[in-house]
Amino acid sequence: MAKFDYDLLTIGAGSGGVRASRMSAEFGARVAICEDNRVGGTCVIRGCIPKKLFAYGAHFADEFADSAGYGWTTPAAEFDWGRLVEAKNHEIDRLNGVYIRILRENGVEIIEERARVVDPHTIEAGGRTLTAETILIAAGARPATPDIPGREYVITSDEAFEMETLPKRVVIVGGGYIGVEFAGIFNGVGAEVTEIVRADTILRGFDQDVRLALADEMAKRGITIRSECVVRGIESENGALSLRLAHGEVLETDLVMYATGRTPRIEGLGLEALSVDVGESGGVVVDKYSRTSVPSIFAIGDVTNRVMLTPVAIAEGAAFAETVFNDNPRSMHYGDIPTAVFSQPPLASVGLTEDEARARHAEVDVYMSRFRPLKHTLSKRDESTVVKLVVHGDSDRVVGCHMLGMDAPEIIQGLAIAMTCGATKAQFDATVGVHPSAAEEFVTLREKRPHHPVRDLR
Ligand code: NDP
Repeated sequence: MAKFDYDLLTIGAGSGGVRASRMSAEFGARVAICEDNRVGGTCVIRGCIPKKLFAYGAHFADEFADSAGYGWTTPAAEFDWGRLVEAKNHEIDRLNGVYIRILRENGVEIIEERARVVDPHTIEAGGRTLTAETILIAAGARPATPDIPGREYVITSDEAFEMETLPKRVVIVGGGYIGVEFAGIFNGVGAEVTEIVRADTILRGFDQDVRLALADEMAKRGITIRSECVVRGIESENGALSLRLAHGEVLETDLVMYATGRTPRIEGLGLEALSVDVGESGGVVVDKYSRTSVPSIFAIGDVTNRVMLTPVAIAEGAAFAETVFNDNPRSMHYGDIPTAVFSQPPLASVGLTEDEARARHAEVDVYMSRFRPLKHTLSKRDESTVVKLVVHGDSDRVVGCHMLGMDAPEIIQGLAIAMTCGATKAQFDATVGVHPSAAEEFVTLREKRPHHPVRDLR
């Protein structure tokens, strides 16, 4: 008789947990997965997928407006938030079903309960005690909001996906991925949006030129970005909310959404009692094979607070399954991870920012182009596209690609492959462009931009 009930017990059926469990089962492991919410996790249920559907929804406003320059006369467009949410919910239900089917077809048992680890090989879930050779923590992360007076009045992205009506005025606090993406969504569908950012501008960590260019584009669309601004407290009166700002100003709005980062979801997992190491950032500490300080317990995805991105969690999950159940030790490579912000217009990047490259290398060449995309010659939309290459001067290797503009996420994916292959600027130059496209700019950049230590595109 087997020593344990299962070979693998996974806690959390998000992108990472599902991939790890499914692959482990394919390799012959007896697997069960515990989930106290809906199978699919943050990305599918209340993250990337519904967000991108909302972003598509918001973008139609541009398409209707731009069509006039191409000869179209359209009746005044009307938008119904409730219909968008309902359509999104149908698609999320479908995807939830697909994920459940994938697990079942691979023989993974689904336990719809919150689980707690009680010893290195045992968990408790819904009153049941279950044992496994290996336990995998893939519990994800949850929105983190600072503890300010009036915190009870704010929503996070979790609630934004379920809102029944669209408020007239929205204040978003936070200038990261979620804040910027939702600013574009709410603005696109007709709300009056103010984004409050404590830093000098949005998207800390991204290349300065594309950050500033996106802030400009957002302003042109009517989004107010309040930089170097701090909220002291929020009050509710007669159905409206008042934000008290640090310098004494009061800002009135109908909705406040906080998008101030996400924190690993470790509370209630029982990890403290087992002395599983947790880092200062709140993430479960793991080695390169995602093993925690307790050898039979592994952790992947957002709960480890390495890189909070779905494809990273999936890759970590796959590497875990290969290592533990296919006798093929593999670890995730964290260099050159491409990423996109689905703002309006979108921004995408892979590799080093110019500042990171200059801090690391003495010789850095920068190539950049800012232009009006062909589509907007007739639409007359005042929107620029920015493409930028950062090149290591000594080796000629391209170490960073950055883009703001239509289709940037689709374009950067291909460039990430080139960078993974170690492409040089000379090889970019030797590549024939696709004409006419914005992407071809990346292979036609010839003039080095002089280095100005202090830059501002505006
Ligand atoms: P981010 O870490 O991207 O941004 C958080 C923002 O909130 C920053 O602007 C930060 O400012 C600000 N902030 C943090 N704490 C406070 C505070 N106490 N008061 C005021 N402002 C504060 O987090 P998000 O919530 O936007 O997203 C969470 C994670 O989810 C992202 O890091 C990303 O990994 C992932 N994600 C990825 C997406 C994608 O791939 N397209 C989409 C959405 C989320 P400062 O810069 O000064 O620290």
